[in-house]
Amino acid sequence: MRISDVTVRTFRTFADRWDAGHGVPLPGTELRQSVLSIHTDEGVVGHYFGGGAHGDAEGLSVVDQATIAGRVRDLLLGCDPLDREMVWKWLWVANLPEQVASAVDNALWDLAGRAAGLPVYKLLGGARDRVRTYASTYPNLGKPVVYAEHALACKADGYPAYKIHPHYFWDPETAQPTPGRPSNIKADIETIRLVREAVGDEYVLMYDPWGTYMSLEEAVRVGRELERAGYYWFEHPMPEYRVESYVRLCRELSIPVLSPEIAAGGVFTRAEWILRGAGDMSRIDVNRGGVTGARKTAVVAEAFGVRCEVHMAGFANLQVLGATSEDTSEYYEKGLLAPGVDADAPLPYLRATCDRLDPDGYVTVPSSPGLGYEIEWDYINDNLVDPGEVLRTGWTS
Ligand SMILES: [Mg+2]
Repeated sequence: MRISDVTVRTFRTFADRWDAGHGVPLPGTELRQSVLSIHTDEGVVGHYFGGGAHGDAEGLSVVDQATIAGRVRDLLLGCDPLDREMVWKWLWVANLPEQVASAVDNALWDLAGRAAGLPVYKLLGGARDRVRTYASTYPNLGKPVVYAEHALACKADGYPAYKIHPHYFWDPETAQPTPGRPSNIKADIETIRLVREAVGDEYVLMYDPWGTYMSLEEAVRVGRELERAGYYWFEHPMPEYRVESYVRLCRELSIPVLSPEIAAGGVFTRAEWILRGAGDMSRIDVNRGGVTGARKTAVVAEAFGVRCEVHMAGFANLQVLGATSEDTSEYYEKGLLAPGVDADAPLPYLRATCDRLDPDGYVTVPSSPGLGYEIEWDYINDNLVDPGEVLRTGWTS
């Protein structure tokens, strides 16, 4: 089997979003999604949706699409699509943007699954069929009491855990952006306390200020509050360029620090962070090295006895989780969620979403061949658009 063509199509879709600049829902927002397809001379085709914002929920940029149509296509034509490891190394060394190399790797896994008639997690080696799930909020939901009410609602909906993205570049009192002030620590600490009081002592809570604490002292101060309130992990508290700050933070705190989250370099960077003691837990997703890179990262973490939580939602992240023990990667991140945002609304281009919560608080790994997509091609073909068209969909972080 040989790769005969590589194509990207961009189409219009709709989903609920949250306007983090104004703290209001944006129901039925028009979005751009893309599908990268790798074709073969035997008729098997692999697909990947995503590569842009929100993980796999929005499409590749026009610049990334041009890279794929040119350099990447030239590299891939004539290759055996089952030589994923060879292609993965090639694309890393070629110094392509991570999301481009990742989209190619993810589509090759979909292709392999379709060729074999198996879901990707069974090809990798199945570890479990369903994954415990936490509710992950948008940032800037409102004043601290809004988080407490939302956490209670998520608990009532059956989520076994809840993760706060607090206030970034935003003042919860005025509901206005605060340029130049990334964090609002006073409101964040009140949020940490009110959410714990609302859900009770036993409920699992996580906290992710997304790198907005600008000094070690700020991160330590909030970390101590999280320890007092019995939170489960403290994610990505400071900019991830300052690795030494993370080494000191991990020494200072008893709550596990979970990082790096968004640092470039995939498995290579995460291996270095583990060796330096810069994170108590690691983090990866399929947009930072594909399914191949995410599994490599989980294996490196497992070898060191370090947990590696998978970042963001979606089909391909779920397949990685299905192939990884819960001792290494415990949770699936459902979201992002906010009051008035329906995270279970059907996607018009797929017959089913991948992550409906079951009554036990788990989601089931998709079991159809490949990544698990059941694609509505008629919708996609009827909604093709120019990938260069700019959409404004509200301020989000
Ligand atoms: Mg995060």
